Amino acid sequence: MSAIISVKNLVKNYGSFEAVKGISFEVQEGEIFGLLGPNGAGKSTTLEIIETLRNKTSGEVIVAGYSIDKDIDKIKRIIGVQLQTSGFYPGLNLIELINLFSGLYNEPVNPQELLQLVNLEDKGRNKFKELSGGQKQRFSIATTIINKPKIIFLDEPTTGLDPQARRNLWDLIRNIRAKGTTIIITTHYMDEAEILCDRVAIMDQGKIIALNSPDQLIDDLVATGFERPKEVKQANLEDVFINLTGHALRSE
Ligand code: ADP
Ligand code: MG
Repeated sequence: MSAIISVKNLVKNYGSFEAVKGISFEVQEGEIFGLLGPNGAGKSTTLEIIETLRNKTSGEVIVAGYSIDKDIDKIKRIIGVQLQTSGFYPGLNLIELINLFSGLYNEPVNPQELLQLVNLEDKGRNKFKELSGGQKQRFSIATTIINKPKIIFLDEPTTGLDPQARRNLWDLIRNIRAKGTTIIITTHYMDEAEILCDRVAIMDQGKIIALNSPDQLIDDLVATGFERPKEVKQANLEDVFINLTGHALRSE
């Protein structure tokens, strides 16, 4: 694997406030890379700079060999960015929205095939606002892959979703990665990061304070003598919930 994103000494100031304080990291081609950290850590700012949607203060960012200083148009062509769900025209149905994006990207796409990929094949004639929370997220992820990007950026795609919808989205993300797409994701769910991400960077107050595979980070913590205060049970409350309510999606 080789680096598809390279960030060096990235700084972002909002006025006198330093939101990102000189971070460096690389994302390897084909991996699912997690950006974790408390609210305000600087995750979205970092992603938006890499997506060319926000200006940096200083530092270097290279995406698939292109510099964000010179090659914004080339970078835009090879990335997919998940829009905030409010970004969709409320009056259009899903097929019309897909055709709209297809036209914007100048990339022919079969709407029904795309809807099938995200389990929304029956919803083509529905408007975006008529979808459940999980369906909205799946549709907005579908729109990120219309231009057949090398990299997609997902900023908290599972926030607020129920356990079944969250698992369904994990499957979708894994399917997209299986086709060779690199994925950068932010999440506040550590179980999700552990299951989904090959590597994670943990950010706090504008700095990266750890970067490794979830497995290695856990082993490193255990090696310091850390132990869980309570004996770990064979299941947790989420297992109980899924066991009682099943894996099938709701409100579908
Ligand atoms: P995260 O996504 O990790 O929650 P953000 O990147 O959204 O963090 O924000 C990092 C910090 O920068 C926060 O303190 C936030 O209030 C601040 N910030 C974000 N956007 C702006 C902006 N447009 N103007 C001023 N401050 C901002
Ligand atoms: Mg954010």
